[in-house]
Amino acid sequence: MPMIAKVAVNDATIHFDKLYSYRVPPELEDGLWPGGIVLVPFGRSDKPRMAVVLELEREEAPDARLKTLLAAAPEDARLTPELLSIVRFLKDRYFCTWYEAVKAVIPYGAQYRPGTENGKPAVIGRLAPPVERVYALAGELPAKPKPGPRQQAAVQLLQAGPRSQHELEAEGVGRTTLDALCKKGVLRCSERYKLLDLFADIPFDPKPIELSAEQQAAYDALAGDLESPGAGAALLYGVTGSGKTAVFLKLIQRTLELGRRALVLVPEIGLTPQMIRRLKAMFGSRLAVQHSALNNTERLLQWRMIQHGDADIVVGTRSAVFAPLENIGLIILDEEQEHTYQSESAPRYSAHEVAKKRAAAENALLVFASATPRVETCHAANAGRMRLVTLRERYGGRPLPTVSFADMRAELAAGNPREVSAELAAELTENLRRGEQSILLLNRRGYHTVAMCADCGQVYKCPNCSVPLVYHKNRQALLCHHCGHQVQPAPTRCPECGGKLAYSGFGTQRVEEELQTLLPDARILRMDQDSTGRKNAHEQMLSRFARQEYDILLGTQMVAKGLDFEKVTLVGVLGIDSMLFGQGFRSYENVFSLITQVVGRGGRAELPGRALIQTTVPGHPVLQLAARQDYAAFYKEEIAFRRLCLYPPFCAFCVVGFTGAQEMAVYDAARQFSALLADRAARCQGLPLRVLGPAPMNIAMLSGKYRYKLTLKCRNDAAFRALLRDTLDAYAAEKLPGKAGVTIDFNSDGDL
Ligand code: ADP
Ligand code: ZN
Repeated sequence: MPMIAKVAVNDATIHFDKLYSYRVPPELEDGLWPGGIVLVPFGRSDKPRMAVVLELEREEAPDARLKTLLAAAPEDARLTPELLSIVRFLKDRYFCTWYEAVKAVIPYGAQYRPGTENGKPAVIGRLAPPVERVYALAGELPAKPKPGPRQQAAVQLLQAGPRSQHELEAEGVGRTTLDALCKKGVLRCSERYKLLDLFADIPFDPKPIELSAEQQAAYDALAGDLESPGAGAALLYGVTGSGKTAVFLKLIQRTLELGRRALVLVPEIGLTPQMIRRLKAMFGSRLAVQHSALNNTERLLQWRMIQHGDADIVVGTRSAVFAPLENIGLIILDEEQEHTYQSESAPRYSAHEVAKKRAAAENALLVFASATPRVETCHAANAGRMRLVTLRERYGGRPLPTVSFADMRAELAAGNPREVSAELAAELTENLRRGEQSILLLNRRGYHTVAMCADCGQVYKCPNCSVPLVYHKNRQALLCHHCGHQVQPAPTRCPECGGKLAYSGFGTQRVEEELQTLLPDARILRMDQDSTGRKNAHEQMLSRFARQEYDILLGTQMVAKGLDFEKVTLVGVLGIDSMLFGQGFRSYENVFSLITQVVGRGGRAELPGRALIQTTVPGHPVLQLAARQDYAAFYKEEIAFRRLCLYPPFCAFCVVGFTGAQEMAVYDAARQFSALLADRAARCQGLPLRVLGPAPMNIAMLSGKYRYKLTLKCRNDAAFRALLRDTLDAYAAEKLPGKAGVTIDFNSDGDL
């Protein structure tokens, strides 16, 4: 009986992401499985497209019009049954296409693209296989004709054993020499997978961990869940500096003893170096890393290592949740409150949910760790849906830093035009004198934030996006932080009225200069997206700060979290007010968490820490609670607000975004969608749903496209998702002129 494959193709739109049937030619039958990656002729022109096989079946008499598969990728490109089930999950939960889900799960370097081989359509690897040539001695070097010095050098080097081309080149022996020697039969050349030891410099140095009594109690509770059959989930809530890491290092150790594997997720690459260091020192080389700062080859090699079963521990950022690790016993989400665990492009998944799904499939223990858990996570723990494990004290009984406020209104009234208050300057000076280090958080990069016309009052905005452009001193240019649009040199006149532009506001670069003037002797390290562009820049900066080559670390969010430096005794927080008055429903939670985290960077060792928050609203309850590091009280306030105003966890919050080139068309599309949805919802008894909008998004225009949104407060269950799918189908069938693109996001904070 002929074999038929049902596949989903690449580059489908969400409305036309159907399964298409193809005949499988007999020669491909053996190499095909559900989850296999194939090449199919698609559309009227039969243009080859990549596709994923979702079902295989035999049919007695298949439709004669069915087309035939062109080619199949090798077996190691295929989705394992577990990854295939994750692809199904992504498709169902996040309204992406099948192939978008495939591309999220398989790293770029392991993907295939359409091409030709010997004139026939074929699948081609995205990356040339990361192999290297290895040379070995195969015979004597003939005395005649007299060998050149390079040839002699090559033979000399290889006497000690085979060397890679790369190693030989480093010794000054080039490819031509090597090729010539191979031809003479003196050398033999072979290929092998490139070896990659990303952390060769970190010594294997396992030291036993002695847990404190409180840590031991936390460990015991979690280890009990780890050892019991069935999946489990827990929240490890511990104040900053309580030693959550020590607890999960022990848990990982126990997991390996049980013959199982561990997946550790961290929110940002900035936090990874320290985590990798600890894991590597403790567990050695069976550790693989997956994060976006690796290049495609490194990432692929690490991924293959996991796929081949050569890693027991995987550590990485969000997408590492898809690592092809088998036999997982433990999954940890460190700093689980971080928004980086939510993807902001298709598939718009949440690593929390994918991790939950994997833990359930593997009967693993899932641990969320944080000093400021998300309100939803804490609510679930309080409701008994996961175990709550608490670390109340800092390790070693060290006190939490004392926190005070610098009232910026008073500073202004006193005539200080600077962004660094007199109080903060005095504290910084004091720290310099004592030879202690300081961390300053300013959540805004750049120099002057904006250019405003002194005559007409217009802020100089990006022509493609409705946001102010930001001045970057090193480039002498205005830059759009969304689309990268650049105005160079930075203008002096208003494009609207020709008036004089005044540069005001502040960012990390500007504050760096101020600090330099205020404290000429201070060694200042600025860390933000602009200064950490180069690979490893992050890690190098942090280790230089750790070696006390700097006095002050100034940076955006990335300095707030996870860092552990013993000499840091002062933390300053600048420009937090704009975040406090941000628009998303999580803005208070974000501010509370950010302040708690950054304040927690101080006083982690012998020396006590102190923190100073600059604000124009020192009495604001969220700031007050953050200053007291009182998560319990904050949670109580916040959960009451969420209940009263109906926000998660009391409903699911779904933003449906519409974008297009014509504003009216986008608005109409949103209205039409809303009507179609309301229509269908009215037919479902007892379906909880509130629809808000259409309203313009906070950034009403982006890269030249207008943006509107509907906000749905709903219950995210199968029935609701079916309704939403049905609405999408109906919307597609409407064939609105100049229709707008639709995006659905269940993890948004209010905007896309
Ligand atoms: P958290 O992640 O909870 O903020 P860390 O795990 O970074 O805290 O621990 C804070 C500090 O205390 C670190 O310097 C860490 O090395 C130290 N520490 C914590 N627990 C232990 C332990 N059991 N033994 C030795 N040092 C510990
Ligand atoms: Zn722009």
